[in-house]
Amino acid sequence: MKPPSKFRAVKVTALAGGVGGARLANGLAQVIEPPSALTVIVNTGDDFEHLGMKISPDLDTVCYTLAGLGNPSTGWGRKDETWEFMQQIRNQGLPDWFNIGDKDRLTHLERTRQLENGETLTRVTRALCHQWGIEAVVLPMSDDPVPTIVDTVEFGKLGFQEYFVQHRCEPTVKGFEFPGHTIAHATGEAIQAIHNADVIVLCPSNPWVSLDPILMLAGVREAVMAKKVIGMSPIIAGKTVKGPAAKMYAELGVLPSALNVAAHYQDILTGFVIDTVDDDLADGINGLGISCLATDTLMTSTEKQAELAAAVLDFALKQKDERKCLCGA
Ligand code: GDP
Ligand code: CA
Repeated sequence: MKPPSKFRAVKVTALAGGVGGARLANGLAQVIEPPSALTVIVNTGDDFEHLGMKISPDLDTVCYTLAGLGNPSTGWGRKDETWEFMQQIRNQGLPDWFNIGDKDRLTHLERTRQLENGETLTRVTRALCHQWGIEAVVLPMSDDPVPTIVDTVEFGKLGFQEYFVQHRCEPTVKGFEFPGHTIAHATGEAIQAIHNADVIVLCPSNPWVSLDPILMLAGVREAVMAKKVIGMSPIIAGKTVKGPAAKMYAELGVLPSALNVAAHYQDILTGFVIDTVDDDLADGINGLGISCLATDTLMTSTEKQAELAAAVLDFALKQKDERKCLCGA
């Protein structure tokens, strides 16, 4: 199949969590020329400290994917991984609920070392990206601690990785808390990347725990709202491709559907991409004042990531700059 043509002279800033974010970001990096015209602002609400290491799961998934070092079947960690360290953890009776491969461990050790030397997460990420040959700009949303807390029926408040990995997303979700957000700042680099962008792309990431934490940082939503903003549904035919987004919608009393994802971002979207199987929802999305594109959104290969990214940018560039107004005009 012919690869999609390249988009030149268009500056794109994407907002991303882990696996869904990484897949579309990797498509965008393949079709934007030069790839450095793409900036990916990544959720750091999942970051935590484990066995003395500072771990940034979503940044790692995005960076490993962009560098071609990721494990596409798990969506986290590195390909061609070895597991000697985890074996030692188990032998010693240390907490083994979070899997850290030997190659992956080096990333966490290096990040921890640089942060303890006084570097910011933004600079550490830049250095790692340089080392891995990533041309796109990858930015953490904040250099401050911004932990996501999941409030659950069975266990009360859980740190995000406790909910996601230790409890395998099984507890029933009541809500989310973002205690760091009262004092945390989006980085100047992230805000600037939004201001500089021609198009903002909301990747098909989890709305509740991947993109809301970015959009809720002071100044981000306002900056995004001044731009053309294209989102993509992580929900296809009422289900998630991976992860707990649909389960969260249901537990919070909202029907998991591409329409409800569009409604979630209603005030900021100019366009929304849904899967072909959901094209009966397009009228409802248009009714929210959002243009809608229905296409195949399952990114099962790097080629499909690039094709979908090209379709997203074609759709974005065809849109007029003015936002639709539903204010009774
Ligand atoms: P996490 O931080 O690893 O949970 O990753 P994200 O929040 O970035 O992405 C999780 C979401 O990505 C899930 O809700 C998935 O349904 C969605 N997702 C994963 N792969 C695809 C895909 O190929 N297409 C679409 N449309 N969504 C996807
Ligand atoms: Ca995540």
